[in-house]
Amino acid sequence: MSITRIPNWAKSAKNQDISLLFSDSFKFKSEQKPILFIGGVHGDEPEGVRLAEELILHLENSTQKYAPWVLIPCLNPDGYKAKQRTNGNGVDLNRNYPSKNWSKEFSKDRYYPGPRPGSEPEIQALIQFIKEEQPRLIVHFHSWEPCIVYAGEPGKVDAKRLSDCSGYELKDDIGYPTPGSLSAFGWKDLKIPVICIEEQEGEKLDTIWSHFAKGLEEILLDESLRK
Ligand SMILES: [Zn+2]
Repeated sequence: MSITRIPNWAKSAKNQDISLLFSDSFKFKSEQKPILFIGGVHGDEPEGVRLAEELILHLENSTQKYAPWVLIPCLNPDGYKAKQRTNGNGVDLNRNYPSKNWSKEFSKDRYYPGPRPGSEPEIQALIQFIKEEQPRLIVHFHSWEPCIVYAGEPGKVDAKRLSDCSGYELKDDIGYPTPGSLSAFGWKDLKIPVICIEEQEGEKLDTIWSHFAKGLEEILLDESLRK
């Protein structure tokens, strides 16, 4: 399938390019809402970037007809380059969303939520995109302890697909507070279901695609997502 890539869709805190890719079936400001995939939110989780890259390769070589999708392979190029969780300003991007529950409190530096909600350029670009395009589902790729966490009942069917193919536990809560996270902003505030894939931290990068290929393919082939 033909894929369009915008290499300089947004800039990071340290002025690095952030790219955005989309399928030929995706049109900006269309009634047909896309699925949004995001990798590399946390720079020290290369598993998520690898999963995004493998998904692009798979889609490029496939002749299937998929639901419209948009993919940001690495939201945090500063952190990815420095092998650190936070962005170039030392902010945990998954605590910086301007959700109603955003909090300036944090326990460790690696969870620093920023000086104010939505302060970071990576998050500003993403929330503008989300508000304009209203994705029908958001899936972001992380690594920690293996599990699939969904926020919002409408995302449960797709989360279960990812749980079934990987064997990773399906959860509706990660088990600790995440104020200012994508789940809080996407589901609690905007009613867009959000799925968080947590790969096993330190997993061999070559094996990651095989854990989620079937579930991601099923999500993208789902007829109901093309209406
Ligand atoms: Zn993460």
